[in-house]
Amino acid sequence: MNQETIREILNRTDRVRCSGSAEEKETAAYLESLCRERGANVYRESFEVDVAEVHTAKLTADGREIPCIGYTLCGSGSVEAPLCYLPNTDKASLCLAQGKIVLLDTGITYWVYHDLLDAGAVGFITYDGDVHYEDRDIDRKRLRPYVSLGRKVPCVNINAKDAFALVQAAPATVAIRVEQTESVTTSQNVIAEIPGRTDEWIALTAHYDTTPLSHGAYDNMSGCIGLLGILDALKEKAPLRYGLRFIFCGSEEIGLLGSKAYTAAHEKDLEKIALNINLDMIGTYMGRFIACVSAEDKLLHYLEYMCALRGWGLAGRQDVYSSDSTPFADNGVPALSFARIAPKSQATIHNRYDTKALLSEEQLLADIGFIADFTQSMADAVRCPVSKDIPENIQNKLDEYLLRKRKKEN
Ligand SMILES: [Zn+2]
Repeated sequence: MNQETIREILNRTDRVRCSGSAEEKETAAYLESLCRERGANVYRESFEVDVAEVHTAKLTADGREIPCIGYTLCGSGSVEAPLCYLPNTDKASLCLAQGKIVLLDTGITYWVYHDLLDAGAVGFITYDGDVHYEDRDIDRKRLRPYVSLGRKVPCVNINAKDAFALVQAAPATVAIRVEQTESVTTSQNVIAEIPGRTDEWIALTAHYDTTPLSHGAYDNMSGCIGLLGILDALKEKAPLRYGLRFIFCGSEEIGLLGSKAYTAAHEKDLEKIALNINLDMIGTYMGRFIACVSAEDKLLHYLEYMCALRGWGLAGRQDVYSSDSTPFADNGVPALSFARIAPKSQATIHNRYDTKALLSEEQLLADIGFIADFTQSMADAVRCPVSKDIPENIQNKLDEYLLRKRKKEN
């Protein structure tokens, strides 16, 4: 991997590539060709994703129309009701939602959604963007099937500026109409292998899909370039003791669907995976390097020592990360995610500002170098020392993250 190759890959993938889209498929084919050029055994695995085409989305406040985008998978229907801006979702606040269309500061999350429906909410308005940005972009949001569990009400997303204006105007009633056709399509994981001296593997993951407004250079073509860079660096040293399996995941942005599909389809083979190393956002000019370890804390201590010995800055923690490492940890594979997290004022994601301009080719190469060395130390171990037992604190966090258990209110 060198600066020229990085530039070429970033230029070639400089566009939106959402789950299930033709652009996502085309990017998968491109990554497949890059891995093949590098001499890896490459194959693709498809899985199903729910999609929808929204034909109509309309939001009016006291009859005045407000630009909006309808949530996909929230069904079709219309509703008119008083507006309830609900910045808190404690038990007392929930009582205010009866018969109302609720405006939330957060996205639609599982517990809040069901609490509000149980409290009698009849529709939802969310917003994103930033009141201080020039643009009036509105993201296309999705009511995830594992969030709605089939309970559907009209939901729209609006720009932050209009959300502010809506609260200021305090309209007597608002009306939402959404019409859509829901269907199923496919997304895919691209898998490239460099065999080792044994039939055991280290799985490296990075997602290549984006959200609807983003070209996803930082989130997460940077991580995909990371996998290719590690492949370049370690294929020279092959065969290592453990094989290297590079999994470029599709559909991460809509709920880690690629890594969930992989772990579900390979339940038996997971025993042969000693460790999952996930890359989600690296190589920015600014920002701190982090490792989030979903495994025993000894792995975190090892990383901290390794970094201290080299003078490589690290903010490490033992936790569950909102990325493709999580389904691995949840299926008993010790996992960790690496990222370089930029201050929000410097680099944001899931919007039009996530572009290749955020990335430093030099920093990307340095990040790849560190992660490749770490990978090699594990892949060439006499025996990968990381315990296969997922500790109880991580198990609890997995239960909360994957909605099996409600997080205690602070
Ligand atoms: Zn990401």
